[in-house]
Amino acid sequence: ESKLDLISRCIRPFPDFPSEGILFRDICPIMKSPAALTAVIDLFEQHVLECHPVVDLIVGIDARGFLFGPLLAQRLGVGFVMVRKKGKLPGPTVSVAYTLEYGTAEAEVQEDSVSPGQKVILIDDLLATGGTLFAACELMKKLRAEVLGCLVVVSLKDLSGADKLKPHTVFPLIQFC
Ligand code: 5GP
Repeated sequence: ESKLDLISRCIRPFPDFPSEGILFRDICPIMKSPAALTAVIDLFEQHVLECHPVVDLIVGIDARGFLFGPLLAQRLGVGFVMVRKKGKLPGPTVSVAYTLEYGTAEAEVQEDSVSPGQKVILIDDLLATGGTLFAACELMKKLRAEVLGCLVVVSLKDLSGADKLKPHTVFPLIQFC
């Protein structure tokens, strides 16, 4: 079985969660399978080494970006930074408001988490409309970081999140309509 097949088998669809009309892709089974989780990090690592040989930091998105980001950062031997929902981080922060596939939110990062000119890669579990990763890119812009690209386990193609993120690129392991 290929790594991608293994990962695909660990993504479950849940209709009408968290609200009616949303088909939620549950990635929890990936976390329960050491082999699937290793496969995710292997494929992300391979992509980063090939496409972005010089990276300073991995930036993970609250909350499921925190599941994959630190593992990838350790593999690459670089640091990990959290983009959090508003009100969770101490000290000076910068924030940006955004709309979700369902609802609105505000993303925040510590002002000193990334230095101007540092090369960062953003990571989350899933790309839907792109609002969340777009907000994270805006935060990186405010800190004058250089965004090399975005990584997601799953991309929902029909929601055109990748278009919203242009010119930044998105590397998804798995795509659904
Ligand atoms: P977007 O901002 O691209 O519309 O939504 C992506 C964000 O919402 C991600 O942070 C992701 O964790 C969460 N999200 C939205 N839909 C799903 C889904 O179907 N499955 C999972 N696992 N996360 C989702």
